[in-house]
Amino acid sequence: MKFYNSLTRQLEDFRPIKPGQVTLYTCGPTVYDHVHIGNLRTYIFEDTLRRILKRNNYRLNHVMNITDIDDKTIKRSHQKYPNLNPAEALSRLTEHYEKIFFNDAQKIGIDFSDSKIVRATQHINDMQVLIKNIPNKYLSEDGVYFDITNDSNYGVLIKLDRTHTHHRINNDEYDKDHVADFALWKVKAGDEPSWDFAIEGRDMTGRPGWHIECSAMSVKYLGQPFDIHTGGVDLIFPHHENEIAQSRAAFGKPLANYFLHSEHLLVDGRKMSKSLKNFYTLNDITKKQFDPLAFRLLVLQAHYRSQLNFTWESLAAAQAFLRRLQAWADLKFQPELGRKKGAGQSYGQSLAKIIQALSDDLNTGLGLAELSGLVSLAEQEGIDIDKQSSLLSDLDALFGLALSGRSDITNHVRDIIVRREQARKNSNWKRADQLRKQLELQDIEINDTPHGPVWSRTY
Ligand SMILES: [Zn+2]
Repeated sequence: MKFYNSLTRQLEDFRPIKPGQVTLYTCGPTVYDHVHIGNLRTYIFEDTLRRILKRNNYRLNHVMNITDIDDKTIKRSHQKYPNLNPAEALSRLTEHYEKIFFNDAQKIGIDFSDSKIVRATQHINDMQVLIKNIPNKYLSEDGVYFDITNDSNYGVLIKLDRTHTHHRINNDEYDKDHVADFALWKVKAGDEPSWDFAIEGRDMTGRPGWHIECSAMSVKYLGQPFDIHTGGVDLIFPHHENEIAQSRAAFGKPLANYFLHSEHLLVDGRKMSKSLKNFYTLNDITKKQFDPLAFRLLVLQAHYRSQLNFTWESLAAAQAFLRRLQAWADLKFQPELGRKKGAGQSYGQSLAKIIQALSDDLNTGLGLAELSGLVSLAEQEGIDIDKQSSLLSDLDALFGLALSGRSDITNHVRDIIVRREQARKNSNWKRADQLRKQLELQDIEINDTPHGPVWSRTY
């Protein structure tokens, strides 16, 4: 496999630390609100990475954090639950949005079933121990800070101006112009959740800075260095830069060997951001009657390292492609509908090409082009289902488009759909209409697309 490594800015052959095993850490959501579709793009990229690693027979150890304490979660919990005590308000808010996050993720085909999900508030002690292990830190009245002047490695991910004289920054997030000593720990300020912390003989009761959680939880569950660290490009600085600096300072070793970053999703050509209020959530997509998996397909059509410009038109095109795949998955396997058997032998070749494309720095666009070619061939020639029974589940394992899960209609219903399709082909509209009514009685609705009939349940 090959990956573009942000550390070296090169496409590299992937060599895991232990043969046959991969340790992977992906930065998870900050659960203070609905995540936007730009965030979801990153999670789809990471899901695809896990799928192709597994397909290449790697045993995968994946950890993702949930940021359930930081500037944003505290602020929002105050606004939303002004009458609760701070700790209760925080957990009420973050549990709510964590649930919504995993619901959204499931709808767009993200598989976390083998992932270890870890929460920041459950690892405060690990963070405190790590902070104590960092030599180049200092205490100030409002927190414990990482001193970047004493760190010659600071800036490995991004070129930085190193003229620096202890400018400090207390925000969890800041932009590239603010190269500064950053907070490892923040002393309790006002009415916020806090934990006891005695360090260097001082009482620093308070809460962690954002960056320290990933350093603490990744070393705990994956060791250091681990193989792959991922996130969106917006995490390169300051978040990943700071994670690397803290972890190297504490243990004298690199944090991870490969960093993979997915690009921004733009809306109408502009970067989405909560502050600009030009962002969409998955709700906005489903409200317009789009299939959540159409969004997944749209994301997969672009390479993860290219910016993806989201428009409703591009989503509609992706949905048409999805419907075509679904129509094929529902019926084109049926020998009755296939004109001639014959596409069978190209199935193995196509699958091999798809795996090859995804193994080459996740070239999902090329993989989907191959799939589209396979469907075209199947549409013309039919597919011998007996030989290809694992095709749909193989494709689902790679793309997560739930094509095989659709076959949970009874043989009886499938039979009616096939007979109706044959009646339509023979221009026997009356018969086709009768069969449609039979399907309606079974709560099955048929949508005729240019690529064939697609069924859905009406209850
Ligand atoms: Zn992180």
